[in-house]
Amino acid sequence: MTNITKTNSLDKVQEHLTAECFNKLFIGGQFVDPIDGQKMPTYYPATGEILHELPKGNANDIGSAIHAAEAAWLDGAWANMPALARGKLIMRMAQGIEEHIEVLAAIEAADVGKPFRQAALALGGAANEGKYWGSLGAVLDAEQDTPVNSGGGVGGLPPAEWDVVYRRDPIGIVGLISAWNYPLNVAFRKVAPALVAGNCAILKPSEIAGLSCMFLGKLAQDVGIPEGVFSVVTGGRETGAALVASPSVSMVSFTGSSLTGTKIMEASAPKLSQVALELGGKSAMVVFEDTDIDRAVETTTKGCLTNGGQICTAHTRLIVQEGIIDHLLKELKNVFEKIPYCRDPITERERGDRAWEAGMTDVVQPLVSASQHKKILDFLNEAKAAGIEFYTGGRVPDPADVGNSGGYFIQPTILTNVPRDSDAWQKEIFGPVLSVRSFSSEAEAITEANSTAFGLASTVMSSDPAKAMRVANRIRAGAVFATSTGEGLLAEHPAVSRGGFGCSGVGRELGIGGLHEYTELKSVNYSGFSIAEAKENSNHG
Ligand code: NAD
Repeated sequence: MTNITKTNSLDKVQEHLTAECFNKLFIGGQFVDPIDGQKMPTYYPATGEILHELPKGNANDIGSAIHAAEAAWLDGAWANMPALARGKLIMRMAQGIEEHIEVLAAIEAADVGKPFRQAALALGGAANEGKYWGSLGAVLDAEQDTPVNSGGGVGGLPPAEWDVVYRRDPIGIVGLISAWNYPLNVAFRKVAPALVAGNCAILKPSEIAGLSCMFLGKLAQDVGIPEGVFSVVTGGRETGAALVASPSVSMVSFTGSSLTGTKIMEASAPKLSQVALELGGKSAMVVFEDTDIDRAVETTTKGCLTNGGQICTAHTRLIVQEGIIDHLLKELKNVFEKIPYCRDPITERERGDRAWEAGMTDVVQPLVSASQHKKILDFLNEAKAAGIEFYTGGRVPDPADVGNSGGYFIQPTILTNVPRDSDAWQKEIFGPVLSVRSFSSEAEAITEANSTAFGLASTVMSSDPAKAMRVANRIRAGAVFATSTGEGLLAEHPAVSRGGFGCSGVGRELGIGGLHEYTELKSVNYSGFSIAEAKENSNHG
């Protein structure tokens, strides 16, 4: 059995990482060293080897980025530029992602430990999404100075002498703080709409796996985003906290855990600045007994094991009707025990989890870091001690099964008869762990689905469309999938808004609503002259 060695997989990626953008902060349009010259390591999850040492920015570097953003905001050229023109620059950044997918996918494979193939697919999605955001520039321009409408309510329009229009202004300086599981996708989903809307933005990627996000600085420089409009400051939690605390930051858009989300909300409260929070989940997979069993197995596996279970919308609670529970669990166990481990994600070009595609998830990746690995093993040990039933998995795999690599692997795990009030049912685990309960009636299925504080996504599987619709409409989650086949599970489209109910978040991303999150709605009431006259004069101003 060959061990994965640095020579046969990491060297090439590390060559890419010698580029300036992966070794410096991007502030004020320039690549600069952190003021204190500090660095932080990132590791290859499949072996635990150091992948790269990247710059560790601190509160002082955040201060520099804010200073540059303030200058750009005061200058006003960016905010006053037609959104169409800003959108064109974002489209060129998206094109840049597309042109560099090979390199970026290799970097994400090494940084996150996800199969190269899956990283490349996801990055293609980020490029497409960027084009969508860019194209919304023209839509935003068309929304400026539009007459107020009644919204269909009683009372109609304001009096004719009110010449009142709506505008959507940028918010100001926005802090963008991102997670590591789909690093560039998560970050660009913030950067692109924030910039199209005319804000100045500072990105703080995750310290666990944020290398691909640093490339956004280079792309911004390449396409000519003006100095100070966009900065990238890598660093730890304190660096994120410094960004949130700054009085100059008028909005924070955050993707990460619900715990950090509460801290960000608290830190934003004294200045009453806005927050958009995309947080954790514990999504339900509700399976009725009229579902095709093979489809149920495929969909549950995909929902739980995609990206190693490290996906906010991972369907980690299986709620299955009594009549098929034994059959479904037996089949699932069979699949969970046979899925091979992804020993070298960097070179894994054929297999990869099948989110957004047809077919079974066919490989299990390592967890992203030693600390995440330990957190999940501790969780599993506590579950054992609490008497939770382990149907399969629950341990580190046999070293021979993972090529003696030293990587952060955990067996795909199924926990059964999980009590509703246990941590295994209530807490996000963020790994390949499925918790199972059964139900008898439709009403019980809905109660089970809604039995956590989260509400990010959920799926109902049935061959009865009316039942699927009834249940979908009662589930409290920002994105619900009602299906007889499971096809397209976890798929996202840039035009379809998503977000969380309850502890899964505040606000919505994607769609036109996702762009509006980065704007302030403003009414302007003209009197004594017409809007047309005002426009005519403002063009000469
Ligand atoms: P995390 O909360 O630990 O960290 C996320 C980011 O916040 C990092 O950049 C980190 O440095 C920063 N941070 C930490 N403490 C901070 C503080 N006090 N102030 C400011 N910034 C701070 O989350 P994670 O482990 O990186 O990501 C996993 C979590 O993200 C999971 O809970 C997952 O469900 C969630 N997630 C949600 C979505 C979504 O769209 N809802 C998408 C991806 C991931």
